[in-house]
Amino acid sequence: MQNDAANNGQENTIPSWLACPLCRGAVSQVEDGFYCSEHDLVFPVGEGILQMLPPAEREDAADFAAEYRQRREEQGWRPLSAEELAALPEAAPDGGIDSTGPPVTRAFGY
Ligand SMILES: [Zn+2]
Repeated sequence: MQNDAANNGQENTIPSWLACPLCRGAVSQVEDGFYCSEHDLVFPVGEGILQMLPPAEREDAADFAAEYRQRREEQGWRPLSAEELAALPEAAPDGGIDSTGPPVTRAFGY
């Protein structure tokens, strides 16, 4: 494993604290993410974000994200363009931010 301080934060550096969430063992960098040989699992990097959830919990997170998007759309929110994201926080839906709806919460047990 490489030391993150030795490479001055350049790509292909694995932070010393990064470990498999299941066994806390070392991971190695592979083309599409980080690999745990103990579990024969790849933790993917998607859109620049490392996804370290175990596979079963990825499904729970995907279900939660779908429910979250649906409720936000029902409240008048929609995906924002790059220009709209750059203009935040002025990109709230018409009428401003509605905080009266039920909160979308869910515990994942860790
Ligand atoms: Zn592991």
